[in-house]
Amino acid sequence: MTQEQIKSIDTKSLVKENSILRRRLKDQESMFQRIIEGTLLGYWDWRVKENYQYLSPTFKNMFGYADDEMENNPESWQKIIFEEDLPLVFDAFEKHIKSKGHIPFTYESRYHHKDGRTVWVSCRGKVIEWADDGSPVRVVGCHADITPFKIAEEKQLEYVKLLESKNRDLKEFTYIVSHDLKEPLNTISNFSNLVKEIYQEILDEKGQKFLGYISDSTVRMGSLIDSLLQFSNVGHKEIESTVDCNTIIDNVKADLTLQISETNAKFTVAKLPNIQGFKNDIRQLFQNLISNALKFVPNSTIPNIIIQASDEVDFFKFSISDNGIGIDEQHYDRIFSIFQRLHSKADYEGTGIGLANCKKVVENHGGKIWVESKIGKGSTFYFTIKK
Ligand code: ADP
Repeated sequence: MTQEQIKSIDTKSLVKENSILRRRLKDQESMFQRIIEGTLLGYWDWRVKENYQYLSPTFKNMFGYADDEMENNPESWQKIIFEEDLPLVFDAFEKHIKSKGHIPFTYESRYHHKDGRTVWVSCRGKVIEWADDGSPVRVVGCHADITPFKIAEEKQLEYVKLLESKNRDLKEFTYIVSHDLKEPLNTISNFSNLVKEIYQEILDEKGQKFLGYISDSTVRMGSLIDSLLQFSNVGHKEIESTVDCNTIIDNVKADLTLQISETNAKFTVAKLPNIQGFKNDIRQLFQNLISNALKFVPNSTIPNIIIQASDEVDFFKFSISDNGIGIDEQHYDRIFSIFQRLHSKADYEGTGIGLANCKKVVENHGGKIWVESKIGKGSTFYFTIKK
């Protein structure tokens, strides 16, 4: 074989190899393109010095433009981004550069779609090539269209605001109504007392009985109004502080001295934690649960109340157990709603607001409240308070 022939074979095989390599590269490029298109992300590749920024067709399409309707340079997207959002992009980029790429180049911003609507974009980028002087040579990144999430988020915020304002109105309404109801109630109570005092001798047995009903009802209505006032006031005007739960229990027991001595109740109180919260509300919470534990006990039983707490990393879990009449499982949720009572007032006194109040206090402290119980054996009320 001559030298010429060998050279010709070498060139032929080189050309063949080259064309195979080119085909492979093209295949890979088109596969990459398809993957990018498939993710629905807008891909960009910015060669800083040349001021050339490849913008993928999906990038352009996200804002309503065809591939040939947008030039491949940074000015193209800078023209359609919201003016007030542009500084955010520069700021995020500067932080990324200054941190030598440690702080990720990410931001969320708004763009004007060709048809006039707003497109919310989440962008993640990265410098993939640095010059010796530390300046960026090549930066790549992608855009994700997050408009539906932003719309949902805005709607949710609107609902929260609406609910907050309705809740405020409702609280004010409850407060005003309860307050105003007290005045006529006091008048009824004062006059029925006067009638009792002045006309006691004239009134026959029936009259005295009716008068007794009036005064019982006014007392009951008074305590209902007080509970309502308290309910509408939970979490109001109080400053958060560190609350020592063992001191709270001592105070509550002091307030309930009469019931405790009348029933000979036995208490077992574990070492309880200090929590961050609204002191008066926490006191009310323990008071309602303890007075229920003292109240809902058969006459012949000596109340045995156990109060414990455990540390559950993000929150404290408290429990108050009694050996009372118990609660049927079907009522576990219902009893935490306002005015829900399982017994007549002849059997057990009460207004049906106590547990609703407890629920409100616990939820104001980022926690939950629930009960576990067995009829005739007793109940354990659990609640959590966020740390
Ligand atoms: P009240 O005590 O004023 O009736 P609550 O809201 O505190 O109102 O309680 C609602 C109802 O839940 C009570 O009427 C009672 O039927 C039931 N309950 C609450 N605590 C207990 C308990 N420790 N044992 C049994 N039943 C209870």
